[in-house]
Amino acid sequence: MPDPNGFLRYDRRLPARRPVAVRITDWREVYPPAGEELIREQATRCMDCGIPFCHDGCPLGNRIPDWNDLVRTGNWDAAVESLHATNNFPEFTGRLCPAPCEAACVLGLGGQQPVTIKQVEVEIADAAVARGGLNPRPVPASTGRSVAVVGSGPAGLAAAQQLARAGHAVTVYERDDAIGGLLRYGIPDFKLEKQHIDKRLAQLAAEGVQFRTGVDVGVDVTAEELRSRHDAVLLACGALQGRDTPETPGRPLRGVHQAMTHLVAANRVVAAGEGRPAQAVLPDGTPIDAAGRHVVIIGGGDTAADCLGVAHRQGAAGVHQLDLYPEPPHGRDAERDPWPTWPWVLRNYPAHEEGGERVFAVAVQEFVDDGTGQVKGVRIAEVTVERRDGRRIVTALPGSERELPADLVLLAIGFEGTEEQPLLAQFGVTRNARGAVDARPDWQTDADGVFVAGDMHRGASLIVWAIAEGRAAAAAIHSYLGGVGTLPAPVDPARQPLAAR
Ligand SMILES: Cc1cc2nc3c(=O)[nH]c(=O)nc-3n(C[C@H](O)[C@H](O)[C@H](O)COP(=O)(O)OP(=O)(O)OC[C@H]3O[C@@H](n4cnc5c(N)ncnc54)[C@H](O)[C@@H]3O)c2cc1C
Ligand code: SF4
Repeated sequence: MPDPNGFLRYDRRLPARRPVAVRITDWREVYPPAGEELIREQATRCMDCGIPFCHDGCPLGNRIPDWNDLVRTGNWDAAVESLHATNNFPEFTGRLCPAPCEAACVLGLGGQQPVTIKQVEVEIADAAVARGGLNPRPVPASTGRSVAVVGSGPAGLAAAQQLARAGHAVTVYERDDAIGGLLRYGIPDFKLEKQHIDKRLAQLAAEGVQFRTGVDVGVDVTAEELRSRHDAVLLACGALQGRDTPETPGRPLRGVHQAMTHLVAANRVVAAGEGRPAQAVLPDGTPIDAAGRHVVIIGGGDTAADCLGVAHRQGAAGVHQLDLYPEPPHGRDAERDPWPTWPWVLRNYPAHEEGGERVFAVAVQEFVDDGTGQVKGVRIAEVTVERRDGRRIVTALPGSERELPADLVLLAIGFEGTEEQPLLAQFGVTRNARGAVDARPDWQTDADGVFVAGDMHRGASLIVWAIAEGRAAAAAIHSYLGGVGTLPAPVDPARQPLAAR
């Protein structure tokens, strides 16, 4: 029986982040482990409210009050079991999820701070490893059916694990040289050290999942070949088509890049380990390193914050992060985003604590040439943004223009869906107006036996949604293959985050 008064005795507390001066000299994670005493205290703040809205906030339907109470009472093995019943990879979500569950915590209704759900989650996930590892659960009997999973991000991996545990033969095809999707070379180590991916992959491999890296499906192997080898195909290729700004004068200048180009190059340097190259370079050898440079990051989301943290660690001379929109409020505006919905508030990532200047309500008017074809600055103007007839109208304020120094400009202005690539036509699937691939209610695309999940279906989203969709698509594939019983399906293809209207 949970402690109904825990939240009255304890305030919300998180472990202290590693000091800025130390952490920007390395690539290790920002947060140290919380320690058992702190995490049991924080789990005690969950009052078992009766109708846990956090369940609805979390697309996985994680049984949050259950494992909070198991942690409170020191019942770690049962907490590990409970958490893994709904989430294949809590070590990823516990580190990286923005925690819509916390926005929906009932404590937030009465003006209290929500339970530190995400922190409890990551401590349980790490306890699983500390207590003897992530035990594989291979199934003795095989169904004789086989599934190809294309793409090895969290959606593909969650589906692969679910299907392998149901007795199907699963092969994951990944065009990159390592498994993990955006977790591997997109998200920097200071948010997720790659040992966490590797430990989980060892579990999947022991459960029978086969991995094929360096295979670009549609190029190295055709859709037809894949379909002839397997009984069903899951497409989980992500939404990696970066939005660009071709109309801005100076866009072709050297030094203006997509954010992902910079992040992947930087993360590959870290992945190289001892004897790593001195600086991040493009595949053709051109440096794309922030060391000693004035960096301008355009955009205000996860990707922009990751570029900021990378720029600090590479030793940038200075960084500006530009946002088109005005500075959000510091607390929930209940009129606009009533509890338990996800509020529009100023989000401060650890990277913001490390330095750089955020500039709100501005738009780039021009990337400025140094006379040799290399960018030397960005000319910005203050702007207002309004919506008219569903269109975004950006108006520059006359006389507000100024120039910021910039040797390296990173575009982190969002994604336009899944990439246009040969695989799509070969499988006979098309991108919709958002650049995503539609799914029927049973997760099949327009092509029978070809399923879709994760960002490729939803558009650029979150890890928690990718895992939820991977699990649900696996359930649909299991049933398509005539598997015995049903697998858990936490979401359907039409499911949207909690919204007021
Ligand atoms: C920089 C950055 C930071 C982020 N930070 C966070 C965060 O902190 N928290 C959070 O919740 N979310 C974050 N996200 C979003 C999150 O990473 C994605 O929502 C999630 O990874 C989507 O998972 P997925 O499995 O659908 O696709 P992805 O992770 O994108 O994986 C798709 C994989 O498919 C492979 N692929 C594509 N085409 C082919 C092909 N033809 N053949 C073989 N393989 C192919 C790709 O190489 C890739 O590895 C971030 C995103 C970015 C870009
Ligand atoms: S996965 Fe995200 S939403 Fe779900 S419980 Fe964990 S932090 Fe909350």
